[in-house]
Amino acid sequence: METIFTKIITREIPADIIYEDDTVLAFLDIQPINPGHTLVIPKVPSVDGTVINPDTLAHMMKVAQKIAIALKESTGCTGINFIMNNGADAGQEVLHTHLHIVPRYKNDKAFSPPHRHEYNAFEAQDIIEKMQKHL
Ligand code: AMP
Repeated sequence: METIFTKIITREIPADIIYEDDTVLAFLDIQPINPGHTLVIPKVPSVDGTVINPDTLAHMMKVAQKIAIALKESTGCTGINFIMNNGADAGQEVLHTHLHIVPRYKNDKAFSPPHRHEYNAFEAQDIIEKMQKHL
């Protein structure tokens, strides 16, 4: 499926590209959480991180690490988030796998604290058993 990111790969629309190799493209997010917020995308389209070729996903992480180091060196940020939203219910808006690299600063209030769940008796063991059947 064609998305806005496919058009960035083919240069049909412009982007602020920071890194490119045979497998991935990295460019600045158009609405950054903080300046330098970068997206790493695979050149071969896939919908999200649950279906992408695992070797491609591993390469995206390698490139993300390089970019995170460059952000730390160049911006003085004191933290970095690697975020991948997989599926609309997880907040994914562009249906082409992408990894956010978000520079962070003390008290930047970039995200509100998430709602946390408490496990009931046996609930943790129950979900472990269900998950392990698929590993
Ligand atoms: P997500 O919610 O994880 O799907 O994130 C999609 C991200 O893509 C958002 O942070 C957008 O700001 C970003 N985005 C959308 N269009 C563009 C574009 N043309 N160039 C750069 N970033 C974009």
